[in-house]
Amino acid sequence: MTETVRLDGVTKSYGGIDAIRDATYSLKAGETIALVGHNGAGKTTMIKLMLGLIHPSAGAVQVLGDDPAAGQFAARRRLGYLPEHVSFNMALTGAETLAFYARLKSAPKADIARLLDHVGLTDAAGRRVGTYSKGMRQRLGLAQALLGSPAVLLLDEPTTGLDPALRQHFYDLLETMRAEGATILMSSHALTELESKVDRVIIANRGRVIADGSIEDLRRIAQLPVRVRLGFGPDGMPPQIVGTTLEWRRIGANRFEAETTSQGKLPLLREALAANGNLADVDILAPTLDELYAHFLQSKEAAE
Ligand code: ATP
Repeated sequence: MTETVRLDGVTKSYGGIDAIRDATYSLKAGETIALVGHNGAGKTTMIKLMLGLIHPSAGAVQVLGDDPAAGQFAARRRLGYLPEHVSFNMALTGAETLAFYARLKSAPKADIARLLDHVGLTDAAGRRVGTYSKGMRQRLGLAQALLGSPAVLLLDEPTTGLDPALRQHFYDLLETMRAEGATILMSSHALTELESKVDRVIIANRGRVIADGSIEDLRRIAQLPVRVRLGFGPDGMPPQIVGTTLEWRRIGANRFEAETTSQGKLPLLREALAANGNLADVDILAPTLDELYAHFLQSKEAAE
């Protein structure tokens, strides 16, 4: 896969404080990445560095082969950006707003109607933005970010203010762009929602990257327990299962839960299936992104 964004030993300091400390990673075409971390972890600062809005104090940033901090940043037109707080000229209509940004980005005029339709604002296109709800402004911000079919899309907390139906539509839109080869970096606190939507997660803590990989990679590294839930028929839990060294908790009539390792889950299932015909239901709950996030933060705190 082609590399689109690269951070090499990047530090960004404000006064004596490092907002980013020695960050190194690269992003690839056709990849959706979640950038997660507590408030003040450095997420927005990383995005601003990629946009060339601020310069690194040390290290280097490259976006689409260019240095965004250099005066001439040719790749800027191929970047889409949705800031954390979108603010528009309230006197312009939605269509006029997009036309304004399309001119700035030299994006084709045909994008305007297409994107208004994509974000469900066609009917409101002729209304002043001042009359839009918060969610509608957020949708307009997203349409603005998608102008010119960007190769790199930087979205700072993009789903804030979107209702559940629109969130799903938003992720479908991103998936289309990703399939066309865009790099999509989203900063977010909505971990549960992101879990099935991203290829990779970068966890930042106090300016440092403390974990970086697919959710599967993070699960492998963290080695957190897997929860197995077994439901049995009227004969109850067979003795072979009761006799395992696992601690079974009763979670309902003839339903039990225990924690095991990732490697332990298959032997346990085989045992349950072989025991008798009494197994009625199985759920396997792998560690969630929320749990992985908490784990990496705790390990980092413990190490410091
Ligand atoms: P949030 O989730 O709250 O949006 P974030 O992860 O995006 O947080 P940043 O906005 O990147 O965090 O901020 C990282 C750190 O850098 C914070 O400690 C912040 O106070 C500091 N910082 C950011 N911009 C500036 C600035 N212009 N001047 C001084 N400090 C700054």
